[in-house]
Parts: sequence; C-alpha cells; structure tokens
Amino acid sequence: MPTERIPEIGSTVTIQKPAFNSILSRLKEDGYLPIGPRLKDEALVYAPIDKIEDLPQGVSTVQKPGYYRLTRGKHMRYFDIIPGAHSWKQFLFPSRAELFKLQKNGREWERLPEKEEPVNYAFIGVRACELAAIQIQDNIFMRSDFTDPIYQAHRKRVFIVSVNCTHPSETCFCTSMGTGPRVKDSYDLDLTELDDVFVLTIGSELGKRLMTGIPFEDASGYIRTNVEHKLEHAEQQMRRKLDTTDLPELILNHLDHPYWNEIGKRCLSCANCTQVCPTCFCWDTVDEISLDGQTTGRARVWDSCFNPGYSYQAGGNTRPTIYSRYRQWMSHKLGTWKQQYGTLGCVGCGRCITWCPAEIDITEEVAALRNEVER
Ligand code: SF4
Ligand code: SF4
Repeated sequence: MPTERIPEIGSTVTIQKPAFNSILSRLKEDGYLPIGPRLKDEALVYAPIDKIEDLPQGVSTVQKPGYYRLTRGKHMRYFDIIPGAHSWKQFLFPSRAELFKLQKNGREWERLPEKEEPVNYAFIGVRACELAAIQIQDNIFMRSDFTDPIYQAHRKRVFIVSVNCTHPSETCFCTSMGTGPRVKDSYDLDLTELDDVFVLTIGSELGKRLMTGIPFEDASGYIRTNVEHKLEHAEQQMRRKLDTTDLPELILNHLDHPYWNEIGKRCLSCANCTQVCPTCFCWDTVDEISLDGQTTGRARVWDSCFNPGYSYQAGGNTRPTIYSRYRQWMSHKLGTWKQQYGTLGCVGCGRCITWCPAEIDITEEVAALRNEVER
C-alpha cells in the first residue's frame, strides 16, 4: 500500500507515472521552470514542460552517421527517446548572451540595466552522458582561478532529474568514455522508467522535499533487479566503441600523420559537430550597433574551431586547411583537454556522428588513425 513517509536521501522508491505531475507542479511553485524533451518539427528539442503529457510518449529515434528519424508506436514510455541536436548546454552557456548594452544620451553613452534575470531551470530527463557533459563544462566555466559569471548565474540554481538510459541509440558510445548509461551522482532525483512505474532515487535535500506527500512505495527486490537488467542490457546493446588506451599520446604524438589529410578530404568544415556537442565551448564576441546609432552592445556568441575566422590571428590564419581544423578539434577533445582539465572532452553522446552531413564518425576515425600508426 502507498505510504505517506518521506523517502530518505539515497533511497530508491517507485511512484505511479501520473504522480510525476505533482513533482512538476511543486517545482513551478518553488520558482523553477521545468525543461524537458519535447517534439518539434519531427525532432526532439529541450523546451518548457507543464505536465508529463508534454513529453514524447511512445517515441524513439533511429540514429546513424548522418541520419536521424523518429519512430513511434512500439511502447508507451516517456523517456526512451535519445536526445537530438539539442543539449542542456544551451541553457547554461547560451548561444547568445548579452554582455552589455549602451544608450546614447546627448554626447554621452549610458549603460542600460541588464534585462534578464537568470531563470531557475529544472532539467527533466538528463542522461548520464549529458550529466557528465555538464560536469565537464562546470570544470571549464567555474574554475578556481576564474568563474564565468553568466554560466555560474544559471548553473547554481539548476534542479536535475536525471534518467538512466535503457535504450541507447546506434551512435552512442558512453560505455567507452565511462559516462553512462547509468547515472552515478550529481542529481536531485534519478529516474528509471519501467513500463508501469517510475523508479526514483533521491539525491538531494530538495529532491527529498519535493517528494513530501507524494504516494510512493519502497523499490522491491524485483524492481531493483529489473532496473539492473535493463541497464546491463543497455550496456551490451552499445556496439560502438572508442578505444581510449593512451588516446592523448596516440593523437598528440602523430599530429603530422598523413591520415589527418584523409579526414580533411571528407570534412566539410560545416561546424555541425561542434554546435551539437554538449562540451564544446568556443565563443566569440560581436558588437552590435542599431541602425539609428542610438544603442550599441556586445554579445558573446557560440563559435567553432571549424570556422576559418576562429583561428585568424595577426599575420594570418593559423589553421587555413580543413584537415588542420579537424585535427585541432579532435586533438583538443581527446588529447590536450586532458592536460587542461584532467578528463577527456568527449562523453560519448554520439551527436557529432548523427549530425555530421559527411557521416564522419569520431570512433571510426580514432580506430583508423590507430591502425595506420600501428601499421
Ligand atoms: S566532422 Fe562533419 S559535422 Fe564536423 S565539421 Fe566536418 S563535416 Fe561538419
Ligand atoms: S565529441 Fe561527439 S560524441 Fe563526444 S561529446 Fe561531443 S558530440 Fe558527443
């Protein structure tokens, strides 16, 4: 029978799926804006949700190199769908952030007050690899010697409902990167979806408070075993692998290998891979002046190491060829990132594989480079 107890932090319980609406309502009462997976134009996006019915029930994706399609009708679960091009990065490190705006007043310029108050986001449905990506960006933007004020203002308020991934897509390889498919920590509530119930693990004091009054049952041995089997099955399903053995050394000791030129012949330098990547963080600043000359401002916008202008310095472009830009991207992600931040810069989400129009697959390119070097 359901009980009125409050589950303790670290405990695992089950709730009926409609009860999740009470959690969403409480988040909104507490001033949070719940954001979750939604369908738009036959793609999965992250957008505000009011109720569980807003989630894409019964939908999955088929993802392959350069290929993304929705499929429907084989189940009635809400969280089986694997993310598309959107990642949570857009909320913490927005693609455009105003740095300041000035208004002309006679012969003087006055700084206008900032318009936007940071939103308290509640991220609903954060996969293990995406949580790892957020942690990687935390390391970049909230370093001990410098903290990015825009990122920090958004990040410090985020409530996270993570989701254990039981149906990875064909382009996923999180097991190789040690980031998934099971969520380990850093969540407020962690959710695994079974056909009839949500299994929730309480991860924080706030997560515990939100559960007050919500009917739950302690997760039985049967339920826990079921969850464990699904996660083991998900791990076994993941066929795509990336061999991380001595990976930084493999790449950084062979920066002059002719194989880079082979990749450069196929890469379009379109920058798709960097825009969808949840860890990429290149940015530029742009100055914008109104047509009447009365206001001006500066904004931070996403950039990409694939854009020729990104590598332009006094005297010319330091990476004028496509192969040199691809090499920069991969050698940073899988090489120098480790020296800078202590981890690799890839979480194995597979987005760069799905959204590359040239079907370039980072796992295959690393394997091919390794073969060439060993040969
Ligand atoms: S690897 Fe693919 S997605 Fe990335 S820049 Fe090249 S063509 Fe575009
Ligand atoms: S490099 Fe590709 S697989 Fe790795 S985190 Fe970025 S988008 Fe995901």
